[in-house]
Amino acid sequence: MLERIGAPWTLVKRASDLDGVAGLIMPGGESTTMLKFFASEQIGPAILEFAGKGKPIFGTCAGAILLAKEVLNPPQEHLGLIDISIERNAYGRQVDSSVRRGECPELADRPVEMIFIRAPIIRSVGEAVRVLGRCDGLPVLVEQGNILAATFHPELTEDETIHRYFLKKLSH
Ligand code: GLN
Repeated sequence: MLERIGAPWTLVKRASDLDGVAGLIMPGGESTTMLKFFASEQIGPAILEFAGKGKPIFGTCAGAILLAKEVLNPPQEHLGLIDISIERNAYGRQVDSSVRRGECPELADRPVEMIFIRAPIIRSVGEAVRVLGRCDGLPVLVEQGNILAATFHPELTEDETIHRYFLKKLSH
């Protein structure tokens, strides 16, 4: 997606890789596996420092789980960078993954295709959190300052809206 919209990117695998980037996307995957990687690479404290400098971070699905202030089902380690409570695997198992349409009224004046893969559900949002996207009445795209989190996978659709919005945050 970043290539398609002409944004230069690089993989961040070590804490020191963060020195060279303006923003960070924490992808989907399996948050428990990603936490093991965090422990071996000591990358958690580096991400907190990166966020503390006001640099934008976008977490999708497992990435959103890692960014949350509270994780349910079961509770697990998290960075606490966005004031949401998020429940893992809340739509059910892999077979309950789905393609839906949601609304992001501030970003797009048409429905946005959203792919949910063993996705979490955001169960509550703090006062400082803006809900930018909803699907079936649930918040699915949320923002608090420099932190953006989506429970779906915008990189798997043709719709560039969400990534373009994140890129705009880099220039602020
Ligand atoms: N189910 C995964 C988790 O709990 C998230 C899935 C995803 O990132 N698509 O970490």
